[in-house]
Amino acid sequence: MRVIGTAGHVDHGKSTLVEALTGTNPDRLKEEREREMTIDLGFVWMSLPSGEEIGIIDVPGHRDFIENMLAGVGGIDAALFVVAADEGVMPQTREHLAILDLLSINSGVIALTKVDLVGEDETSRFEWLTLVEEEIRQVLAGTTLNGAPIVRVSARSRFGISELIQSIETCLKECPQRPDLGRPRLPVDRIFIMPGFGTVVTGTLLDGHLMVGEEVQILPKDTRGRIRGLQTHKQKEDIATPGSRTAVNISGVNVDQINRGNVIAHPGDYVPTRRLDVYFRLLREASQSLVHNLKTKLYLGSAEVVARVRLLGTEKLDPGEEAWLQLELEDPVVAVKDDRFILRRPSPGETLGGGIIVDPHPEGRHKRFNSKNLNHLNALKKGSPQDIVLHLLIGQGVVKINDLVTQSNLDKEIATAAIIDLYRAGQLVNLDTEISQKSSSVQDHAKFILGMDDVVTSKGFWEQLADHFINEVKNYHIIFPLRRGIPREELKSRLKGVYKNQLTTALYNSAIHKLIEEGFLSESGSMVFIPGFTIEFSLDQKDQIKALLTRFTSSPYAPPTAKECLALIGEEVFNALVELEKLVFLPPDVVFRKEDYDQMVSQVIQLIDKHGEITAAQVRDYFNTSRRYVLAFLEHLDARGITIRNGDFRKLKKIVKN
Ligand code: GDP
Repeated sequence: MRVIGTAGHVDHGKSTLVEALTGTNPDRLKEEREREMTIDLGFVWMSLPSGEEIGIIDVPGHRDFIENMLAGVGGIDAALFVVAADEGVMPQTREHLAILDLLSINSGVIALTKVDLVGEDETSRFEWLTLVEEEIRQVLAGTTLNGAPIVRVSARSRFGISELIQSIETCLKECPQRPDLGRPRLPVDRIFIMPGFGTVVTGTLLDGHLMVGEEVQILPKDTRGRIRGLQTHKQKEDIATPGSRTAVNISGVNVDQINRGNVIAHPGDYVPTRRLDVYFRLLREASQSLVHNLKTKLYLGSAEVVARVRLLGTEKLDPGEEAWLQLELEDPVVAVKDDRFILRRPSPGETLGGGIIVDPHPEGRHKRFNSKNLNHLNALKKGSPQDIVLHLLIGQGVVKINDLVTQSNLDKEIATAAIIDLYRAGQLVNLDTEISQKSSSVQDHAKFILGMDDVVTSKGFWEQLADHFINEVKNYHIIFPLRRGIPREELKSRLKGVYKNQLTTALYNSAIHKLIEEGFLSESGSMVFIPGFTIEFSLDQKDQIKALLTRFTSSPYAPPTAKECLALIGEEVFNALVELEKLVFLPPDVVFRKEDYDQMVSQVIQLIDKHGEITAAQVRDYFNTSRRYVLAFLEHLDARGITIRNGDFRKLKKIVKN
């Protein structure tokens, strides 16, 4: 579920446009809000051509705009930014844009409204609109809405409305759905009583889902209640999902126990705070500099709280400048790292600027101009060390720990601690399993786990890689059920097709080694197979094998040739018997049963032991066989390094215990 919010100068046609889009006049709904649970002040919804239902928060006036926009700040996915063609860019156009920018709303569509009012004829209208669009583009430049599409519309004649809807759809397609982080929070923007039901609150749900029947905590006071009913866009739901405009009917709580700005959450998920470390930007248009100890109003979520500003690293902040602030709040709020906020001067009312919450629970009151604190905040702003390392890791795929530390730009100690944390949390996977080879370890206590030269990857990449390896081997077993496994090199070339140059020999070897160590694959010689895989012969094949082996039994030392074997059992079965070590194949043509071959080896060793040396003819006579078999057999013994040949004679190369 997605929500868009309108913005733009008063009287530029926002409400009229919302009515043209949805068929509902958001202003008319105001009068109905006492009666209808889901109808919010200026809140309506519509279906896009794709069938997706979206919510629209309409903001009629300036002050309402800020409160409403902030009420759904995290929940607004995109802005519907309205500029009237006849007036062009006006002061509130700029101010609203600045606020969207501070809130980091980076998707949106610009509706150039009232195009029916400009120009005497087509040519002059075209020229006028081109000029206004040029002006809008200039204003958008450098903001989060830079480059947003501009659509010419007239709510009155409905010119351009379907194009605008299309544009909204395209814009939303590009913004990701809100994640479910498993810790829902609903900043309350409206509270009312619904006769027969009791207390109802509304807001845009963030970071998790809510379910009917759940116990909830109303923060910052620890008021407890239970969800009796949920509605999204007037529909009853059992579960409300993140990003959706949600009405919650809470039992066990009176309306006077809840205020706008409160947060509905699962008990224990959030701890309210009265102090925030923030990174702030004073608007270029601000009428004065920001000074230490200034009393301001903080707008965060749907909350509005008096906040005293502490300037941490500068004496004063001039318009357009950014700085670290610590905000001391009069009342506690629920805040989460990376939440956006706005600061306003209470009177006369003026938006000063805004920024991002970097630490919602600072350890204490920071000393001003303390470089250690400021450095720490700068690092936090970039993300926690784990975030930074993980981000790099995911981007790189596979990387050496040493390089990860360097690229993170973090202090070496901090980076290595983050790497160890990620490793322990299972987020970082070490591909180097050769523990003994670790030269320099990441940290003493992690010795034998991670080495600076170890190659690591992210959990996601490893799982994907491991799946590919395992599936490739499994498929091979299906296609070649009579083969023991896939040759290592063949597996590598198959996977290269997927991973290309990313799959270096080192990575391939490490991955195989790790998968074997973890018991997902087995290896025998150069064959890789799934543990427990056995070659299963069909009944026919079993009969053929039996017939063949009978022939081996009747003349073990002058057995059937390879050619005869192939004729009897076929190549696949023959190869399988060789792989299973039932047969010993001495190419090109000699084959023995394994037990007969072993027998021959031990007897030949004994004969040489006895005589010192032996000729092929002696072996032939001993086994009562032909020269062809004996030559192949003895050459094989030479090749194995058991015997050594000298003219017609062979002796033992080394003492062999067979
Ligand atoms: P808001 O303050 O931005 O919500 O503006 P409204 O929607 O209340 O519109 C202000 C005035 O402009 C109203 O009188 C509307 O009837 C008029 N208006 C809005 N859209 C159009 C339009 O496309 N064409 C014309 N001619 N008038 C419009």
